Amino acid sequence: MIITDTHTHLYSEAFEEDRNEMMQRALDAGVKRFFIPAIDSTYTQSMLDLESDYPENVFLMTGLHPTHVKENYKEELAHVEEMLAKRKFYAVGEIGVDLYWDKTFLKEQQEAFAHQIRLAKKYQLPIVIHCRDAFDEVFEVLEQEKGEGLFGIFHCFTGTLEQAQIAISYNMKLGIGGVATFKNGKIDQFLNQLDLKHIVLETDAPYLAPTPYRGKRNESSYIIKVLEKLSSLYNISEEEIAKITTENSKDIFGI
Ligand SMILES: [Zn+2]
Repeated sequence: MIITDTHTHLYSEAFEEDRNEMMQRALDAGVKRFFIPAIDSTYTQSMLDLESDYPENVFLMTGLHPTHVKENYKEELAHVEEMLAKRKFYAVGEIGVDLYWDKTFLKEQQEAFAHQIRLAKKYQLPIVIHCRDAFDEVFEVLEQEKGEGLFGIFHCFTGTLEQAQIAISYNMKLGIGGVATFKNGKIDQFLNQLDLKHIVLETDAPYLAPTPYRGKRNESSYIIKVLEKLSSLYNISEEEIAKITTENSKDIFGI
Protein backbone atom coordinates (compact mmCIF):
# COMPACT_ATOMS: atom_id res chain seq x y z
CA MET A 1 0.00 0.00 0.00
CA ILE A 2 1.34 3.42 -1.01
CA ILE A 3 -0.16 6.39 0.79
CA THR A 4 0.42 9.96 -0.38
CA ASP A 5 0.46 12.83 2.08
CA THR A 6 -0.31 15.76 -0.22
CA HIS A 7 0.28 18.41 2.42
CA THR A 8 2.82 18.11 5.23
CA HIS A 9 5.22 20.65 6.73
CA LEU A 10 7.98 18.17 7.54
CA TYR A 11 10.57 20.95 7.71
CA SER A 12 8.73 22.58 10.64
CA GLU A 13 10.61 23.42 13.86
CA ALA A 14 8.12 21.10 15.56
CA PHE A 15 10.16 18.14 14.20
CA GLU A 16 13.58 19.49 15.07
CA GLU A 17 14.21 16.90 17.80
CA ASP A 18 13.08 13.73 16.06
CA ARG A 19 12.60 14.39 12.35
CA ASN A 20 14.25 11.17 11.12
CA GLU A 21 12.33 8.96 13.55
CA MET A 22 9.10 10.70 12.56
CA MET A 23 9.88 10.15 8.87
CA GLN A 24 10.67 6.51 9.52
CA ARG A 25 7.32 5.98 11.30
CA ALA A 26 5.54 7.42 8.26
CA LEU A 27 7.54 5.34 5.77
CA ASP A 28 6.88 2.20 7.85
CA ALA A 29 3.16 3.00 7.81
CA GLY A 30 3.19 3.06 4.00
CA VAL A 31 3.38 6.83 3.50
CA LYS A 32 5.93 6.98 0.68
CA ARG A 33 5.14 10.30 -1.00
CA PHE A 34 5.23 13.63 0.81
CA PHE A 35 4.27 16.91 -0.87
CA ILE A 36 5.70 19.88 1.01
CA PRO A 37 3.93 23.24 0.92
CA ALA A 38 5.95 26.42 1.34
CA ILE A 39 5.21 29.29 3.74
CA ASP A 40 7.74 32.01 2.94
CA SER A 41 11.40 32.46 2.00
CA THR A 42 12.65 31.88 5.55
CA TYR A 43 11.86 28.16 5.15
CA THR A 44 13.36 27.63 1.71
CA GLN A 45 16.71 26.29 2.93
CA SER A 46 15.17 23.80 5.38
CA MET A 47 12.89 22.55 2.61
CA LEU A 48 15.84 22.01 0.29
CA ASP A 49 17.69 20.18 3.09
CA LEU A 50 14.70 17.92 3.64
CA GLU A 51 14.57 17.12 -0.06
CA SER A 52 18.24 16.20 -0.15
CA ASP A 53 17.74 13.89 2.86
CA TYR A 54 14.75 12.11 1.24
CA PRO A 55 15.10 12.62 -2.53
CA GLU A 56 12.87 9.63 -3.39
CA ASN A 57 9.98 10.64 -1.17
CA VAL A 58 9.88 14.40 -0.79
CA PHE A 59 8.41 16.75 -3.43
CA LEU A 60 8.60 20.48 -2.89
CA MET A 61 6.24 23.33 -3.62
CA THR A 62 7.05 27.02 -3.61
CA GLY A 63 4.74 29.87 -2.69
CA LEU A 64 3.79 32.55 -0.21
CA HIS A 65 1.28 31.55 2.47
CA PRO A 66 -1.57 34.06 2.91
CA THR A 67 -0.88 34.59 6.64
CA HIS A 68 2.63 35.65 5.61
CA VAL A 69 1.46 38.30 3.16
CA LYS A 70 2.75 41.42 4.92
CA GLU A 71 4.34 44.77 4.00
CA ASN A 72 7.19 42.93 2.24
CA TYR A 73 4.98 40.65 0.14
CA LYS A 74 6.35 41.88 -3.19
CA GLU A 75 9.85 40.79 -2.21
CA GLU A 76 8.46 37.44 -1.14
CA LEU A 77 6.65 37.02 -4.46
CA ALA A 78 9.90 37.85 -6.25
CA HIS A 79 11.53 35.01 -4.28
CA VAL A 80 8.82 32.58 -5.43
CA GLU A 81 9.35 33.70 -9.00
CA GLU A 82 13.09 33.31 -8.71
CA MET A 83 12.75 29.79 -7.29
CA LEU A 84 10.39 28.73 -10.09
CA ALA A 85 12.84 30.00 -12.69
CA LYS A 86 15.71 28.15 -11.02
CA ARG A 87 14.51 24.57 -10.51
CA LYS A 88 11.66 22.09 -10.53
CA PHE A 89 8.76 22.42 -8.09
CA TYR A 90 5.61 20.30 -8.10
CA ALA A 91 3.07 23.00 -7.21
CA VAL A 92 2.65 26.62 -6.23
CA GLY A 93 1.45 26.50 -2.66
CA GLU A 94 0.22 27.09 -0.23
CA ILE A 95 -1.52 30.21 -1.47
CA GLY A 96 -4.93 31.75 -0.87
CA VAL A 97 -6.76 33.89 1.65
CA ASP A 98 -6.90 33.66 5.44
CA LEU A 99 -9.19 36.05 7.31
CA TYR A 100 -9.18 34.11 10.57
CA TRP A 101 -6.03 35.64 11.99
CA ASP A 102 -5.99 39.08 10.42
CA LYS A 103 -8.00 41.00 7.83
CA THR A 104 -5.53 43.90 7.46
CA PHE A 105 -3.98 42.60 4.26
CA LEU A 106 -7.04 41.20 2.52
CA LYS A 107 -6.44 43.19 -0.66
CA GLU A 108 -2.76 42.18 -0.73
CA GLN A 109 -3.63 38.55 0.04
CA GLN A 110 -5.98 38.41 -2.94
CA GLU A 111 -3.44 40.14 -5.15
CA ALA A 112 -0.67 37.73 -4.08
CA PHE A 113 -3.04 34.80 -4.63
CA ALA A 114 -3.94 35.90 -8.16
CA HIS A 115 -0.32 36.66 -8.99
CA GLN A 116 0.80 33.19 -7.87
CA ILE A 117 -1.99 31.52 -9.83
CA ARG A 118 -0.61 33.21 -12.93
CA LEU A 119 2.87 31.96 -12.07
CA ALA A 120 1.50 28.43 -11.71
CA LYS A 121 -0.14 28.70 -15.11
CA LYS A 122 3.09 29.95 -16.66
CA TYR A 123 4.92 26.85 -15.39
CA GLN A 124 1.90 24.55 -15.95
CA LEU A 125 1.82 23.70 -12.27
CA PRO A 126 -1.07 22.96 -9.92
CA ILE A 127 -1.89 25.33 -7.08
CA VAL A 128 -2.49 24.33 -3.47
CA ILE A 129 -5.07 26.58 -1.84
CA HIS A 130 -5.21 27.63 1.79
CA CYS A 131 -8.64 29.06 2.67
CA ARG A 132 -9.68 30.00 6.18
CA ASP A 133 -12.85 32.00 6.86
CA ALA A 134 -12.57 33.21 3.28
CA PHE A 135 -14.55 31.05 0.84
CA ASP A 136 -16.13 34.06 -0.92
CA GLU A 137 -12.79 35.84 -1.21
CA VAL A 138 -11.04 32.72 -2.57
CA PHE A 139 -13.83 31.93 -5.03
CA GLU A 140 -13.77 35.53 -6.26
CA VAL A 141 -10.13 35.10 -7.34
CA LEU A 142 -10.73 31.62 -8.79
CA GLU A 143 -13.66 32.94 -10.82
CA GLN A 144 -11.34 35.58 -12.25
CA GLU A 145 -8.57 33.08 -13.02
CA LYS A 146 -10.60 30.03 -14.03
CA GLY A 147 -9.92 28.12 -17.21
CA GLU A 148 -7.82 25.31 -18.55
CA GLY A 149 -4.56 26.21 -16.85
CA LEU A 150 -6.16 26.36 -13.43
CA PHE A 151 -6.07 23.14 -11.39
CA GLY A 152 -4.89 21.89 -8.03
CA ILE A 153 -5.95 21.10 -4.49
CA PHE A 154 -8.23 22.87 -2.07
CA HIS A 155 -6.17 22.00 0.98
CA CYS A 156 -7.79 21.16 4.34
CA PHE A 157 -11.26 21.44 2.90
CA THR A 158 -13.72 22.35 5.68
CA GLY A 159 -16.68 23.84 3.82
CA THR A 160 -20.17 22.67 2.90
CA LEU A 161 -21.21 20.24 0.16
CA GLU A 162 -22.12 23.21 -2.01
CA GLN A 163 -18.71 24.83 -1.47
CA ALA A 164 -17.07 21.49 -2.27
CA GLN A 165 -18.92 21.38 -5.57
CA ILE A 166 -17.87 24.94 -6.40
CA ALA A 167 -14.23 24.09 -5.64
CA ILE A 168 -14.47 21.00 -7.86
CA SER A 169 -15.93 23.13 -10.66
CA TYR A 170 -12.65 25.09 -10.69
CA ASN A 171 -10.66 21.86 -11.28
CA MET A 172 -9.74 21.48 -7.62
CA LYS A 173 -9.44 18.25 -5.68
CA LEU A 174 -10.28 18.37 -2.01
CA GLY A 175 -7.49 17.78 0.48
CA ILE A 176 -8.99 15.75 3.32
CA GLY A 177 -7.20 15.39 6.64
CA GLY A 178 -7.73 15.31 10.40
CA VAL A 179 -10.90 17.42 10.31
CA ALA A 180 -12.76 14.46 8.73
CA THR A 181 -12.15 12.53 11.98
CA PHE A 182 -13.37 15.30 14.31
CA LYS A 183 -16.71 14.87 16.04
CA ASN A 184 -17.78 18.38 15.02
CA GLY A 185 -15.78 18.48 11.77
CA LYS A 186 -19.00 18.38 9.69
CA ILE A 187 -17.44 17.28 6.38
CA ASP A 188 -17.88 13.60 7.35
CA GLN A 189 -21.64 14.22 7.01
CA PHE A 190 -21.54 14.61 3.22
CA LEU A 191 -18.12 13.51 2.00
CA ASN A 192 -19.36 10.20 0.58
CA GLN A 193 -21.69 12.11 -1.74
CA LEU A 194 -18.56 13.21 -3.60
CA ASP A 195 -16.82 10.81 -5.97
CA LEU A 196 -13.45 9.64 -4.62
CA LYS A 197 -11.81 10.92 -7.80
CA HIS A 198 -12.07 14.40 -6.23
CA ILE A 199 -10.31 13.46 -2.99
CA VAL A 200 -6.66 13.45 -1.89
CA LEU A 201 -5.29 12.74 1.57
CA GLU A 202 -3.21 15.07 3.70
CA THR A 203 -2.15 15.66 7.29
CA ASP A 204 -1.07 19.33 7.38
CA ALA A 205 1.45 18.12 9.99
CA PRO A 206 2.38 19.44 12.52
CA TYR A 207 -1.15 20.94 12.68
CA LEU A 208 -4.64 19.42 12.84
CA ALA A 209 -3.85 15.98 14.24
CA PRO A 210 -6.70 13.51 13.68
CA THR A 211 -8.69 11.90 16.47
CA PRO A 212 -7.43 10.34 18.82
CA TYR A 213 -4.37 12.63 18.65
CA ARG A 214 -6.41 15.82 18.32
CA GLY A 215 -4.63 18.78 19.92
CA LYS A 216 -1.23 17.04 19.84
CA ARG A 217 1.56 17.47 17.31
CA ASN A 218 0.49 15.90 14.04
CA GLU A 219 2.82 13.77 11.90
CA SER A 220 2.50 12.08 8.53
CA SER A 221 2.10 8.55 9.95
CA TYR A 222 -1.22 9.68 11.50
CA ILE A 223 -2.66 9.85 7.99
CA ILE A 224 -3.69 6.24 8.67
CA LYS A 225 -6.48 7.62 10.86
CA VAL A 226 -7.80 9.67 7.93
CA LEU A 227 -7.56 6.61 5.69
CA GLU A 228 -9.56 4.55 8.22
CA LYS A 229 -12.21 7.24 8.41
CA LEU A 230 -12.62 7.48 4.63
CA SER A 231 -12.70 3.71 4.38
CA SER A 232 -15.68 3.62 6.74
CA LEU A 233 -17.43 6.64 5.16
CA TYR A 234 -17.15 5.20 1.63
CA ASN A 235 -17.35 1.56 2.67
CA ILE A 236 -14.27 0.80 0.57
CA SER A 237 -11.09 -0.92 1.81
CA GLU A 238 -8.20 1.19 3.06
CA GLU A 239 -5.98 -0.28 0.33
CA GLU A 240 -8.40 0.90 -2.34
CA ILE A 241 -8.71 4.39 -0.81
CA ALA A 242 -4.91 4.65 -0.66
CA LYS A 243 -4.65 3.55 -4.28
CA ILE A 244 -7.31 5.92 -5.64
CA THR A 245 -6.09 8.95 -3.68
CA THR A 246 -2.46 8.26 -4.67
CA GLU A 247 -3.55 8.07 -8.32
CA ASN A 248 -5.39 11.38 -7.88
CA SER A 249 -2.24 12.95 -6.44
CA LYS A 250 -0.27 11.74 -9.48
CA ASP A 251 -2.82 13.33 -11.79
CA ILE A 252 -2.34 16.65 -10.04
CA PHE A 253 1.39 16.76 -9.35
CA GLY A 254 2.49 14.88 -12.48
CA ILE A 255 4.60 12.48 -10.41
ZN1 LIG B 1 -0.28 23.93 5.44
